[in-house]
Amino acid sequence: MAKKKKNKVLKKKSQKVKTKASRKKKVSAKKGKKGVTMTYLGLGSNVGDREEYIEQAVFLLEKNPNIEVTKRSSNYETEPEGGGTQPPFINAALEIKTKLTPHRLLEVCQEIETTLGREREIEWGPRTIDIDILLYDGEIISDDKLQVPHPLMHERLFVLRPLRDIAPHLIHPVLEKSIVTLYDERKAEAGEKYDDELPGFKEIKGGAYDDYERW
Ligand code: AMP
Repeated sequence: MAKKKKNKVLKKKSQKVKTKASRKKKVSAKKGKKGVTMTYLGLGSNVGDREEYIEQAVFLLEKNPNIEVTKRSSNYETEPEGGGTQPPFINAALEIKTKLTPHRLLEVCQEIETTLGREREIEWGPRTIDIDILLYDGEIISDDKLQVPHPLMHERLFVLRPLRDIAPHLIHPVLEKSIVTLYDERKAEAGEKYDDELPGFKEIKGGAYDDYERW
């Protein structure tokens, strides 16, 4: 109920986002005005109220004066890759505009992970929220703290599927292929495990732009 009301209140903002998004023609990553960059984040949660953690992460990103969330994918429920007995994830992708440097953005994402109770005891373990920088303005970065494009993004259907919602024609600056091509390739590689409907994937929120909401 409260969510419905919130949706109404936020509709105007949501439309604003939609208009901006639809006006944008260039899909290759380029620096915007005044050093504003177009950046893509991957979100995942597999502990507790997973959708709520995703909402909270979007809320906290938006709260940062140097970040504007411009597009948001559907949420997808996905089986954890790499086996193990982890619960399924909710995954989503965001397009943001930001003036933060890549490393400052990483810090902000990690602060949000900490705020939302993420513990880093087990690598690849269950997490309340994981925020990855997938692409930062077409830049290629590789140092001790940060690798961009995210080195595993092109191998992960749970990253590519939501990213395809919001940036299908964006070019991966290292592989020089579009997101939709990488997605199709990865899906084909996965063979029988994944067909067009991607068993193991469940779209939870429809409409990449229409469901965009802010708190
Ligand atoms: P994770 O367990 O996925 O949250 O990984 C966190 C670690 O990955 C941190 O120590 C980051 O410094 C590092 N890292 C390297 N590249 C990235 C990236 N593109 N996005 C997020 N974390 C990254």
